[in-house]
Order: sequence, then structure tokens, then C-alpha cells
Amino acid sequence: MDRHDRQIRVSEIGKQGQQKISAATLLIVGCGALGTYCAEQLVRGGIKNIILVDPDSVDETNLQRQALFVTDDATSRLKKVTAAKKQLQRIDPQVQVTTYPCSFEQVVFEELGTIDLILDCTDNFHTRSLINLYAYHHELPFVFGACNRTTGQVMALHPCKQPCLHCVFPQLDGLEKEDCSTVGVLTPLVPFVTSLQVALVYKILLDDPTLSWQTMTYADLWHSALDHYLIKKKATCPVCSEKKTTSAVAVEAKKICGTDVYQTTLSPLQQHALLENSRRHSAILKENPLAAKIQIGTIELTLFKNGKVLIYGLTPKNSRLLPEFLQMIVKGATYDSENRSLDHQ
Ligand SMILES: [Zn+2]
Repeated sequence: MDRHDRQIRVSEIGKQGQQKISAATLLIVGCGALGTYCAEQLVRGGIKNIILVDPDSVDETNLQRQALFVTDDATSRLKKVTAAKKQLQRIDPQVQVTTYPCSFEQVVFEELGTIDLILDCTDNFHTRSLINLYAYHHELPFVFGACNRTTGQVMALHPCKQPCLHCVFPQLDGLEKEDCSTVGVLTPLVPFVTSLQVALVYKILLDDPTLSWQTMTYADLWHSALDHYLIKKKATCPVCSEKKTTSAVAVEAKKICGTDVYQTTLSPLQQHALLENSRRHSAILKENPLAAKIQIGTIELTLFKNGKVLIYGLTPKNSRLLPEFLQMIVKGATYDSENRSLDHQ
């Protein structure tokens, strides 16, 4: 008897659908409440290849709402991805689980191999913004999920075809990190929200005709209510529209006391634009999973994966033009002009 027999009997899945589920590789970013419940359901449902990304270790306050973890994992401060892998392979010894005990921005994307879709199971908008960019540039679908007190939000996104997460939340880069450590989350809300996420994963893998890339579902567990909102692609979206407006975002830098080094922080979008432009102009001197060293004329930049930038080689004269310079490096204009705008004004 096939261990997935009861699911195969569901006409929406069937034998062919089950085969598609088994053949898929999923990237789950975030191995907390959403990530662990999604992973457990997906492995029980027949997924055989999973990549887990999360930098944290299990602690006692996780056990209230995160599946897969037990008290011993918290006592020994096991990495979440390690504890999750152990439990997932007890559920199905055939499942392949690749673990990255680091943040998403530290993952070397080239190592990930072929992925069918991404599950956004994070708790902050900085990482969500990066997932959105990654999905857009790799033409991948992803499933967004969020939990907050007694309500949740779920949406299937295909940023290169339909609205991206920036179209849904135009202030994505500026949204504060708000997670359940500050707002709280009801224990049964998590399986409620992740069930909706996993159903969307199935629909994507099965290319189900009822799947919508434009519907945000709001789930209110306390009132047993589901609401759906139509989301449209924004004509001026800085990520997915034809008229990208990255350069319109202001960038400011501050001098680090007692040094000639300036420091600033770029949004994920600006960071991505800077890296892409630098690669195109072969301006990257060195790059590793944590940082990239970039040379633009006489100026050298170190761009860290968390968006922090250190700027070396500025003189008192040209440092006055730093805001304009930063605008330009994000736009990619300075490479061609050999930094002339900065030195000759
Ligand atoms: Zn967009």
C-alpha cells in the first residue's frame, strides 16, 4: 500500500499529482512556527526534497507554537534546521533535507541548485523583500505567509508574471520588523495559516486551474473568517514593473567618528541594484557569502549582505557630494563616467 494512498484518493491530487509532489524541491526560508508546520505537512504529504534556512537555535518559548521541536532540543540549544531535519526524517526516512543554519542573505544562491518554489516562512520584512527579489530574478513562484496574534495572511506570488510582494506592500523595505516576540501569536493560528500555505504549494506544483496569483487571503481564526482581496501588479513597482524606481529612494551616509570611512545602509532593493550594476561593470574586487568589495574610480565600497556599506577613499571635498554619489552608484551611472562627477564638481 502506498503511504500516500489517502491523499491520492482525493481527486484534486490523484496519482499524477502525487508524483509531481514527490518530484518537487522546495526551499523553506524560516524554520520557526510557519516553517516547521509547513515542513511537517509537506513531508507527510509526500515532498521528498526540502531545503531549510534558519540561523536560530531552539529555545523554550518556541515550543508553544513551533512543530517538530521537543523540550530536549531547547535544552541542548540545537539549531532549528538540525532539529527539524531529525524529526522530518523520522516521519519519512526517504526525505532529503538540506540545511543552512544561517540567514537567507548569507546563503550562496548558486549552491541551492534547482528549486521549484519557495515558502516564505520568515518573521521580518527585510528577508521577505530579499525572497521577493530572488523569486523575481529566478522566475520562481513563492508562497507568502504571516501570523499576527489571531490573524494571518497567505498569498501565492509569481513576481515575474503577476504582482510581487512589493506590489502588495509598497513600503516593504521600510516596514519594521514585527514578530511574534512582540505581538504574540495564538498556538492554533499557526497550523491554520500553514494549511492554507501548503494547499497553495500543492496547487502551484499541480498547475491547478483554480490557483490565483492575485489573491491575498486574510484569515481571522478568532472569528472563523476568511477574506480574499484582489491584488494588482503596480505600474511603478520598484521590483517587478517596467519602470523601476530604485534610484528615487534616498540614500544617506554618515562618517564614522575618528576615521575617514563613511557608513550607510542600503535597502535590499538598492543592495541588489548595486551588486547587479557592479557585476555588469566588473567592479567587484572580491565577493564571499558575507560581503562584496567594490571599486568605483578612487572609491572603494564594502557591501555586507545585511545592507551595511562602508565607503573608503573619500576626500573632504568630494564627501559633500556623497548623497548624490550614492544615488548614482545604486543607479549604476558612475561606472561609465569613471567617477568624474565626484572628482570634478
Ligand atoms: Zn511588484
